Amino acid sequence: MRIPQERLEKYRNLKREFSEEDHVNLQPIQRGGVLSEEAMRAIIEFGDGYSTCDWCPPKSARLDMIENPPIKDFYNDLAEFLGMDLARVVTRCREAKFIAFRMLGAPGDYVVLDGLAHYSSYIAAELAGLRVKEVPVGGPPEHKVDLNAYAAKIEEVKRETGRLPAAVLLTHVDYQYGNVNDAEVVGKIAQDYEVPFILNCAYSAGVMPVDGKKVQADVITGSGHKSWAASAPTGILALRKSLEEKLLRRASIQGDLTSRSFVSKELALLGCTVMGAPLLTLIASFPAVVERVEKWDEEVQKARFLVGELERIQGVKQIGERPKRHTLIHFETEPFFKVSQSHKRKGYFLYEELRTRKIVGIQPGLTKHFKLNTYGLTWNQVRYVSQAFLEIAEKYGLEVK
Ligand SMILES: *Cc1c(COP(=O)(O)O)cnc(C)c1O
Repeated sequence: MRIPQERLEKYRNLKREFSEEDHVNLQPIQRGGVLSEEAMRAIIEFGDGYSTCDWCPPKSARLDMIENPPIKDFYNDLAEFLGMDLARVVTRCREAKFIAFRMLGAPGDYVVLDGLAHYSSYIAAELAGLRVKEVPVGGPPEHKVDLNAYAAKIEEVKRETGRLPAAVLLTHVDYQYGNVNDAEVVGKIAQDYEVPFILNCAYSAGVMPVDGKKVQADVITGSGHKSWAASAPTGILALRKSLEEKLLRRASIQGDLTSRSFVSKELALLGCTVMGAPLLTLIASFPAVVERVEKWDEEVQKARFLVGELERIQGVKQIGERPKRHTLIHFETEPFFKVSQSHKRKGYFLYEELRTRKIVGIQPGLTKHFKLNTYGLTWNQVRYVSQAFLEIAEKYGLEVK
């Protein structure tokens, strides 16, 4: 069918809501995915379709075997960086989790996971045919996962099914409160029961140091577009050598007429995964990422500074663990909610006040509580953001200490 030109016009000149250059963006899921300059250049260089595949080796014919651009080396360096043995890049963190669940479990098996796990962990389990057993989360204000309860939950699965769970999954840093879980505790429990331990590092690996060996992770999953200065979609699946045969099992299917087979292809990866510009952004940003995780402490200092400043507004409170050990921050902001009730723009007033100050990323309409992320902001930007909040508070007559 022929689509009329005027309908196509809107596709020609795509623009973002705001530009990263002249706005401070606090959107929790976007801070760690801001591209490096090297990654920007890689997009232009490798934007064409299968342009990464110029030098695909004819025999092994697989993404992870390509040496130019240096994908093969990158996979090795990536694994080493995470303290793991092997790594693959997949489309998203959720796909990495799905692959792990699918290849480790049999339909009906359980996965034990924390009650603050991301929705995609649940959905990945469902698609893999697995059930979930949740580890409880403690109450306010800290909302900490009860890590020692992993053992009891594994026991519960054993009693109920007569089998061990297919895996345990811990969300290293949760998306709600930005709490950092002590992965070693769960690693030890999983090791004792000999259950594979999947550490979901969507909010940690790529921004802060993660050592899979130290915490005894069997699988690490990560998100390139969330935490590795890469374009979407990119995810990371890193594993121990001992799980290679399970997770990276080769295809064994054969054509019934042609007898064609594909024995070099990794089954759960459908042969090849992300083969274009997004993968190359992840690779191009890797040197910057290796460097930036060393500066994590300073990133946490900025987050703590912002908490201190915003809590000067009477009634504003950071929830989740204190002091912060991560840059994703959840605030309860009852005073702003009170303002919104009599404001003609209702809940949108806060978004709009910030927007006029060129600050974006707080979800429009939210005033009772909201999340933001300071990762990668300069000190000046953090001070500017604090100042803006205090200014807005004073403008509406809130008490500022
Ligand atoms: C954001 C997030 C994900 C999703 O990552 P994708 O790469 O988009 O699949 C998974 N887990 C956690 C904990 C997250 O915060």
